[in-house]
Amino acid sequence: MARSRSSSRSSDSSSDAGSKRQWLFTRFVHSRIWHSSSKVDHKTAPNETSALLDAHRPGGEEGGQLKAAPEANSKTRGIIWGALTLIFIVGLVLLLFFQHLLVDSFYSWLGVLPRDPVLAALVILDKAPVIDGHIDLPIITRFKYANNASAIDLASPMPGHVDIPRLREGKVGGFFWSVYVACADPDEEGEDFINATWSVRDTLEQIDISRLLIEKYPDTFQFAVSTKDIKSAITHGKIASLLGIEGGHQLGNSIGAIRQYHALGVRYVTLTHTCHNAFADSCGFFDGITPLHGGLSSLGRSLIDEMNRLGVLVDLSHTSDETAKQALKYSKAPVIWSHSSARAIHNVPRNVPDDILRLVGTGEGQQDAVVMVNFAPFFVAKPGNATVEAVADHVEHIASVTGKQYVGIGSDYDGIPDTPVGLEDVSKYPALIAELYKRGWNKYELAGLTGGNFLRVFEGAEKVAKALQAAGTVPQYDLYEKRKDIPRIEL
Ligand SMILES: [Zn+2]
Repeated sequence: MARSRSSSRSSDSSSDAGSKRQWLFTRFVHSRIWHSSSKVDHKTAPNETSALLDAHRPGGEEGGQLKAAPEANSKTRGIIWGALTLIFIVGLVLLLFFQHLLVDSFYSWLGVLPRDPVLAALVILDKAPVIDGHIDLPIITRFKYANNASAIDLASPMPGHVDIPRLREGKVGGFFWSVYVACADPDEEGEDFINATWSVRDTLEQIDISRLLIEKYPDTFQFAVSTKDIKSAITHGKIASLLGIEGGHQLGNSIGAIRQYHALGVRYVTLTHTCHNAFADSCGFFDGITPLHGGLSSLGRSLIDEMNRLGVLVDLSHTSDETAKQALKYSKAPVIWSHSSARAIHNVPRNVPDDILRLVGTGEGQQDAVVMVNFAPFFVAKPGNATVEAVADHVEHIASVTGKQYVGIGSDYDGIPDTPVGLEDVSKYPALIAELYKRGWNKYELAGLTGGNFLRVFEGAEKVAKALQAAGTVPQYDLYEKRKDIPRIEL
């Protein structure tokens, strides 16, 4: 216990530095605003003071009159001191009783955050916008518009939780477009997972519609495949648009497929959805399901090797606890939970339990990761109790176990039938930031939550991929043992 406490302290301080670095990046983006306001302070204050002093310098024009009329001088001095005293008293009263209004009116000049939580949230999000790990907009476009990009108007109100005006209102700087295809019916799929051959076709169609919509709105979206792309998009006022695949079943049991998905821009794969697949065990949905492999299969370990080599993030949302534990240990690169909350706050298999959260970090036996909190009411609280405060409870619980630098946001908007009170759509992220600000989170910690923590993890995976490729690591060629359609080659 002592060891884990001290390692958590040291990782806290190192990640504080990390959070500050991320904050500094966002400050860099807006440095001109901050610098221009501080320049005004320094330039004007001394000039006003010196003008006042010059007017009363002995030997000056007034000084000459003073010699001639000492009584008039004394009267003038009395008026000036009286006025100054009055200004001082008024200033003191304002400072004592209306500090809140003063700070919130001049926060940018004072270089501090507004005290009003909503105003503070907006200021923080202007510098560190939200990067959401999981948004299901592409599944809405499939089911409501048959993936016809010309029939979809993202600039007008959309039927779900996401459209451009609301993304802008919510201060979104980037999100993963979830390229989701449902698990096959178990009877149709068969126990060997080899019958649902449409999974790869449908995944390609979902990649296609995502990319078409990203291209359709070049003033809003910027396709992104790296941390460099995300930062560039945010710097230019665009919404970085990334692709994530929600289930290993969408690979058609083929490791070759991940290479081609990567080439099309996919940067995470959730190892499972609600069904087991050839690579790993799922946690199912509400009640959990009987394990098949006992975590990762040997093909699943090869898949992780290939994802590490390519720089595709391993996503552990939807996986069984055993899969998550094994993947955390096995992956050479940091991992994510693209949309999962805390099981200690609401006990469903889709949420992450504390014993797994304790494996997250930079200490011995830990792996760097970010748990991006899901807003789905049935994962947040008992029916009727899902609110923005309840979501904040999940964020705070995860942070209390892992440290604040390991939490992010993965709303699941457009993939959930209803939403928590106060977080009705993508325009409402500021409400969550305001709630956490009220609870004492500082701007560095909040900038980490909104996107900085995810950027650190993604950057970590990019570095691992670069190192593996530089070392000449060969691609994985393992075949799923149940496939009979291609010959085995003995090497
Ligand atoms: Zn999901």
